[in-house]
Amino acid sequence: MNKVAFITGATRGIGRQIAITLAENGYSIALNYRNENNELKQTKCEIENAGAKCLTIKGDVSNFNSCEEMAKKVIDTFGEINVLVNNAGITKDMLLIKMKNEDFEDVINVNLIGTYNVTKSIIQYMIKQKEGRIINISSVVGLCGNAGQTNYSASKAGIIGFTKSLAKEVGSRNILVNAVAPGFIQTNMTDVLKEEVKEEIKKSIPLKRMGTTKDVANVVKFLASQESSYITGQVIQVDGGMLM
Ligand code: NDP
Repeated sequence: MNKVAFITGATRGIGRQIAITLAENGYSIALNYRNENNELKQTKCEIENAGAKCLTIKGDVSNFNSCEEMAKKVIDTFGEINVLVNNAGITKDMLLIKMKNEDFEDVINVNLIGTYNVTKSIIQYMIKQKEGRIINISSVVGLCGNAGQTNYSASKAGIIGFTKSLAKEVGSRNILVNAVAPGFIQTNMTDVLKEEVKEEIKKSIPLKRMGTTKDVANVVKFLASQESSYITGQVIQVDGGMLM
């Protein structure tokens, strides 16, 4: 197998682990990053150590032209894109009453419009190939909401609607579209929370621990594989039972 996976926001956290896991499972990796740093070099190095090809592509998912250029680069290098993982995401938390308009817009622009921009740039190639997998990283808060995250929850709920609608549009083309909704995963995004807040959240999770990036990456690996060939339009929660 020499399949190609394009993962957005993959220098650290969940995206990085998805890229490494897919590399270990024989995929060539197109790795999108926004800022060049040591994390990018380390991730590329780990992917290559796993024996996979790694193309790193700078680009901002909230910019449509940038996404079209990235898609073209992946096709020029590898000839196809079999798996797209829309992972890039940000938070700018605040109660709605105090939220700045630009913080609401920024989160929607990266998380939801970013998912649209990248998918729209890539779908034509998948249609030509007559196969593809699109895996969108949503969140449990897109299902249940969270105080202080109206912007983020709206973006993640939007991703779920986008996933289901696109699954209906492209199912006949053998393109499967699913979402993964992680709960509380140990990354930079959650490192900013106070220890006491983390402890309270852990208490509310039946499995009594935060998830790891591997917990999420393993589900993405499954959704990218032949083993999931009759699953589309679904939201798979990876949350230790946090939301039932
Ligand atoms: P991190 O903050 O660790 O990583 C986010 C990644 O997205 C970074 O590589 C970042 O790059 C990249 N990124 C942000 N904005 C853009 C952009 N405009 N264009 C391209 N890349 C961008 O987050 P996580 O790994 O925790 O989160 C990954 C995904 O999982 C996100 O969509 C998040 O919402 C989701 N998620 C995370 C949960 C958690 O508990 N951690 C729970 C539920 C969902 P840069 O370094 O350049 O900013």
